[in-house]
Amino acid sequence: MRYELLIDGQLNPGGGSIEVIDPASGEVFEHCARALPEHLDLAVAAASRAFASWSQEPLAARQALLTAIAEVIENNVQPLANLLTREQGKPLADSVWEVNGAAYIFRYYAGVDIPVQVLEDSPQRRVEQHQMPLGVVGAILPWNFPLFMAAAKIAPTLLAGNTLILKPAPSTPLTTLHLGALIKDLVPPGVLNLIADFNDLGPLITAHPGIRKIGFTGSTQTGLKVMGSVVPTLKRLTLELGGNDAGIVLEDCDPKVVAAKLFKAAFTNNGQICVALKRLYVPDALYEAVCEAMVEIAEATVVGPGVEPDSQLGPIQNQAQYERVLSLIDSASQQGKIIAGGNALERPGYFVRPTLIRDIGNGSPLVDEEQFGPVLPIIRYSTIEQAVAWANDTSFGLGNSVWSDDADRAYGVAQQLDSGTVWINQHGDVGPNVPFGGAKMSGLGVEYAAEGLAELTQLKIINRAKH
Ligand code: NAD
Repeated sequence: MRYELLIDGQLNPGGGSIEVIDPASGEVFEHCARALPEHLDLAVAAASRAFASWSQEPLAARQALLTAIAEVIENNVQPLANLLTREQGKPLADSVWEVNGAAYIFRYYAGVDIPVQVLEDSPQRRVEQHQMPLGVVGAILPWNFPLFMAAAKIAPTLLAGNTLILKPAPSTPLTTLHLGALIKDLVPPGVLNLIADFNDLGPLITAHPGIRKIGFTGSTQTGLKVMGSVVPTLKRLTLELGGNDAGIVLEDCDPKVVAAKLFKAAFTNNGQICVALKRLYVPDALYEAVCEAMVEIAEATVVGPGVEPDSQLGPIQNQAQYERVLSLIDSASQQGKIIAGGNALERPGYFVRPTLIRDIGNGSPLVDEEQFGPVLPIIRYSTIEQAVAWANDTSFGLGNSVWSDDADRAYGVAQQLDSGTVWINQHGDVGPNVPFGGAKMSGLGVEYAAEGLAELTQLKIINRAKH
């Protein structure tokens, strides 16, 4: 199997190749085509040409393409999931979930309408609000959910009548390129272009004069560069950035019951989720019991290659992130106490046991920064005012959660938390019918729902006098 770029409806070998590493071994297991700046230019030119006709297609035709893509994904769940596990590391069951999730996103958007709204229809005037396509869109992705994130960019962008250049993360290009090969004959040439890079084309995409809008998902640090880069061409911009989500447990929780849910919220996908639970605040009364219950789960968790059916957590996705997580654990071990994990597995690959650190607080890098890995600080609090202040004491604002059976009390705490989403008795539940975006430095704008679609369109008002 060759993994090639998709440009102007054709598979393209690019200009060189990228080595793709299996994080379960640390060894190169596959190669894919590498795009050079000239391939980006070709892709933008193709997308500009395609825009002229694609933007004029009736909505029903655009919806039909999304349905057809969903069908292709549904007919290829196992091969796509196998590939995803090899390049990303996650257990096969999680990859199957992600591939099905990608198909669901296409199906969802295939049912979305973009209606003309009549704002006023009076004896004086009729005012209509139209959502027009923007033009060529550039999308840049991270490595934690390669296929799901690609779907979340492709489906609404094409539905809105735009054409797209999409770039996966350099360490997880294969599933995206494979999808391109599977659907290339369904998609009109130039409507969807897929390019893989060596972490060098991002700035050229964001600065490209032929691109009207950037949808970026990645770290806050890179998001800041993207924001600077779009200024000269006044591109539209949506940024989905990092998070440092807090979970606040209230005293009435059953420690064992809540611990199981908290563990899942923090460690699914090895904690490599923008909305993973990344700091846990537990009241004095429950602190020992919650720590104990969490340790029990952590110790029972099977860590191993994603292709092995027993594995519940796979390796960390790449070496740089693996080293960062180990260094955060090392510094946290001097400020708090490791009560589970704390070590890498003695085998090749980027495996770290799920790690819990107690008796630690705000001011430690593990608490203040985004770890994006399988390590969770558990922080003790005495008053809810203190817990809320600590939770909000961050430049991030993606999500937070409150855990309690007392619905009114939980709701009261949720209202005080400063983030784009606050969950109650769950964490990380997102879906295409609910707007999703970050407060503070976790993002700019939103994705999903009508609000997300609005960011992929240009408002046009038609205002007709009737007198
Ligand atoms: P990253 O910022 O390092 O890279 C993301 C993408 O940006 C990659 O494709 C990379 O090649 C590209 N890039 C690098 N430099 C660039 C530049 N100067 N200009 C334009 N593009 C550039 O992030 P990552 O390590 O791949 O992903 C992890 C981060 O993503 C975490 O912070 C996580 O919280 C965040 N994330 C956020 C969301 C969300 O929806 N808010 C979702 C998933 C991940």
